[in-house]
Amino acid sequence: MSQHYQAILLFGAPGAGKGTQGKILGEIPGFYHLSCGEVFRTMDMSSKIGKIFQEYSSRGELVPDNVTIEMWHQNMQARTVLSDFKPNVDLLVLDGIPRNVHQAKLLTKHLDVLEIIHLVCPNKEEMIKRLRRRALKENRIDDAKEDVIRRRWAVYEEETYPVLKYYPKNIIREVDATGSPAGVLQHILEAVVPIQEAHFNNPITGEKVRSAAKASAKGRKKSR
Ligand code: ADP
Repeated sequence: MSQHYQAILLFGAPGAGKGTQGKILGEIPGFYHLSCGEVFRTMDMSSKIGKIFQEYSSRGELVPDNVTIEMWHQNMQARTVLSDFKPNVDLLVLDGIPRNVHQAKLLTKHLDVLEIIHLVCPNKEEMIKRLRRRALKENRIDDAKEDVIRRRWAVYEEETYPVLKYYPKNIIREVDATGSPAGVLQHILEAVVPIQEAHFNNPITGEKVRSAAKASAKGRKKSR
């Protein structure tokens, strides 16, 4: 039987900082970060999926849904078998998936989405500048050309943004993505710590977390 992972989603436009924030969260015991784009980028580029990824990402387009979800699921299972990711101990922090409503539907067999952190970027041009800086620093072919970046934004607006409507409103938390990384992190933590404590034991002591945060998360759940 397929396992259901308890997860939060980091959601937002290209350049919003999902990867940066996800990486920091993933360093905290009890959180496990997985970036879908990163999984694709670290694949063997001479493999069949590697070639499909290059073909689509070089145009700023999404890899087809069936390929993406299958690849993601196999990757999760491998990490679980290797005990790198422990579903009973770690809250999964997903970034870059689901990228459209069809993927969100396919993921319902694998995920319980507990919360969505929507990193909101009011200024599109500022985000595009961020992406170009990152492309130069990290040698990312997908972001090196202006037209590819603009295509990625268009794909976000047309296909990814509607994912927010697919999930219940009361699990979506908006966080301004334009602050300092530490400031943005602070707001994300305010949202996700109560969720983590309500669903998991303390990853260090193994004991149940009995805090006000837990009570308030429960209260929220009841009022849905
Ligand atoms: P960013 O974080 O810069 O928005 P990603 O690193 O998440 O971009 O993704 C890079 C590329 O990988 C995307 O442009 C797309 O081609 C592919 N990709 C990543 N995640 C998905 C997904 N969930 N579905 C389809 N394609 C994806």
